[in-house]
Amino acid sequence: MTASLGAYPIGIAGQPWGDAEKAAWLARQSRQRSYTADVLSVIERLRPHLDVSEYSRLNYAPDSYSLLAIRSRDWRDGLPIMLVTGGVHGYETSGVHGALRFAEQYAAHYTGRANILIVPCVSPWAYERIQRWNPHAIDPNRSFRADSPAEESAALLRLIAPLRGRILMHIDLHETTDTDETEFRRALAARDGVAFRPGGIPDGFYLVDDTENPQPAFQLAVLTAVAKVTHIAPADAKGEIIGSPVVAPGVIRYPLVKFGLCAGISGARYTTTTEVYPDSPHATPEQCIAAQVAAACAAVDYALAHAV
Ligand SMILES: [Zn+2]
Repeated sequence: MTASLGAYPIGIAGQPWGDAEKAAWLARQSRQRSYTADVLSVIERLRPHLDVSEYSRLNYAPDSYSLLAIRSRDWRDGLPIMLVTGGVHGYETSGVHGALRFAEQYAAHYTGRANILIVPCVSPWAYERIQRWNPHAIDPNRSFRADSPAEESAALLRLIAPLRGRILMHIDLHETTDTDETEFRRALAARDGVAFRPGGIPDGFYLVDDTENPQPAFQLAVLTAVAKVTHIAPADAKGEIIGSPVVAPGVIRYPLVKFGLCAGISGARYTTTTEVYPDSPHATPEQCIAAQVAAACAAVDYALAHAV
C-alpha cells in the first residue's frame, strides 16, 4: 500500500460521517455508464421469451430507475423456484451481465422443471456510477433486513416475501475487485470513523456459503463448473480468503442473515454468493461473465438433482 492511499479524502479520522461528509461523497459520484443501454435494452430483447415485470422504482431525483424481474414462462406453483440475483453491488459488472446472459441463454431451458426468477440489477444507480453504495452511502448488501434503510434491498425483499418457503436455490452474483481495497474498504472505514486496515484481494473465483446452513456439496458442484471457465482463488498464507477461514478450496462462510446479505433473503435450502475476480491478469471480462453463468447453471442443476 502506498502512503498516498492511506487517508480517505472525506471526513476526519476517527469520526463517523455526518450529512455533510455523505453529501461530499455523493458529489464525487458521476454517471459513467447507462443502465438503459446496458441492462434495459437487453431485457427488452428477452420479452418475447420470458416474463418481465417492474417490481419497484427507485427515485433519486433527477434520476429514476425501473427495477425489473425476469421470470421463466409456464410458471407453475408446484415447481421449485430458483432465484438468481445480480448487481446488488452495482459496480460488479459481471454479476449484472452474467444474470442477463443466464436469462437469455438458459432460463427457458428449465421450463417444466423449475420456475426461474432473475433480478439482474438490484442497484442500478450504483451500476451507472460504478459504485458499491447507494446515494445515501449505504451498502445494500448489508441492508437486507426488516425496515431496511436501503430502498434497493427493501424492494427486493418485498418481491421475495410471497415466495419464501418455495425458493429452493438462490445464487447471488458478485465480484471482488482491486477497487475493493483501493476505494471501497477505505470509504467504509472513513464513513464509520474507524481505522482502515489493509487487506488482500484474492486472485481467482470463490464462493460464500452460509455459516448457519452450510451446503458443502452444493458449493463444490458450483466450483467444479466454474473451474472449467476460470481459476479458483487459493487461500492466503493464513489459510484465509479476505479474512475468513477457507473451509474447502475456494469456499468461505458468512452468517448471511445476521450480516444482512442478499443470499440470506430467501430461506432457500441451497444458497451461495459468487465472487469473480475481474482484475486478474488471467481472466478476461468475457470469462468473468461466463463464470457467473456456469455458476448459475450448476447451482440450478444441483438443486434440481437434490430437490428432495
Ligand atoms: Zn459484491
